[in-house]
Amino acid sequence: MVLEKYSFGIGDRFAQQGEAQLNAIIKAKDNGIDIVPVWNKSNREHQIINSSPEDTRIEADAAVLKLNWKDPYYVDADHINLRTVDSFLDHSNFFTLDVADYIGAAVSGKEIDTFLGISSPYIGSLEIPGIQDPFRITREDLVRIAKTFLGAVREAAAIYNHIASNKGADNFIAEVSMDEVENPQTPVELFFILLMIKHYGIPAQTIAPKFTGRFNKGVDYAGNVDQFKKEFEQDLLVIEHAINSFGLPGNLKLSVHSGSDKFTIYPIMGELILKYDKGIHVKTAGTTWLEEVIGLALAGGDALQMARIIYSNAYGRQEELCGPYFTVINIDPETLPSPTEVSEWDGEKFANTLRHIPGHPDYHPGFRQLIHVGYKVAAEMEDEFLTMVRQNSVVVGEQVMTNIYDRHIRRLFDI
Ligand SMILES: [Zn+2]
Repeated sequence: MVLEKYSFGIGDRFAQQGEAQLNAIIKAKDNGIDIVPVWNKSNREHQIINSSPEDTRIEADAAVLKLNWKDPYYVDADHINLRTVDSFLDHSNFFTLDVADYIGAAVSGKEIDTFLGISSPYIGSLEIPGIQDPFRITREDLVRIAKTFLGAVREAAAIYNHIASNKGADNFIAEVSMDEVENPQTPVELFFILLMIKHYGIPAQTIAPKFTGRFNKGVDYAGNVDQFKKEFEQDLLVIEHAINSFGLPGNLKLSVHSGSDKFTIYPIMGELILKYDKGIHVKTAGTTWLEEVIGLALAGGDALQMARIIYSNAYGRQEELCGPYFTVINIDPETLPSPTEVSEWDGEKFANTLRHIPGHPDYHPGFRQLIHVGYKVAAEMEDEFLTMVRQNSVVVGEQVMTNIYDRHIRRLFDI
């Protein structure tokens, strides 16, 4: 299975918006950009919502059938590990092997020596075509890199082999992810991580490093944009060189776990992949769920009332809801509107506060992030919430489609 050049990860917490999401991809195709959709959902999301990997597969298949989508599509077992992968095996054909927790895991002296054996030719001056200055690599650098990443890549191989022995190596796409960590990996580290990936025999087609800056959920990039640009460009060149030097899959590409809505850096990424004729996988978080809430607010009446209740409950449970996401959100509780205040808002005001239009006078990033992590509140409403979303599927679907196409795809591909 060979992943196409451009792929887009579309998270959908409640598995109701497959068609609206696919409509965005179809609209891109109509405008000359071929993207394959990847429905991604993590084990954590499934647990919080009480859904199963099979539900995502059913959603994807149904949308594809309904809209007569003939190109490939994928269902991503997002951020799985050996403990959580099994329930995804029958339903996914894309696996994000998350080994962030194994960065720095103990490795034996023998394993380090083996790695030094294959990496020592790079000691001295490491030249990457396209990068002006060569990198200086010492034996100490290699030992440090081995101690930091070898355990993680070894674990990725264990997960990969487990999946391959169950599904057959040709029946899925493997991504290696190390993005959910504090410190970014440098382009040099990425180069040697790719060497390890080759050494351990993982035919990875996408790799998700941690980039410079903060990728908070559902809001824009926060960090040094120039630094990001330099790093992203070097990463592209490093991958190209690693493909040519190590014999990794020729379509190997960066996967950006964007957390959605990285409006500032989408055009930069788009420009650079075009410059080097590289592919990309952009994974969005479950912000489709925010569009569902926006749609409910705009629908008015009971639906608007439900949107207000969702906020009010989330407001009262901030600590609990934000806890699991504390590294990827940034909310100043002092600035949040009170539920009483929100109870007087009309649908437009609610929608404009939640919808991510930078510079809009009503837009409130804290309000948005709190509702983003508050999907548990809606999950607890069970059918009451799902029925309301289905009853208002036209207005909701319009929000979902516009969000993915206009605010994400168009910025990335300059349509
Ligand atoms: Zn991620």
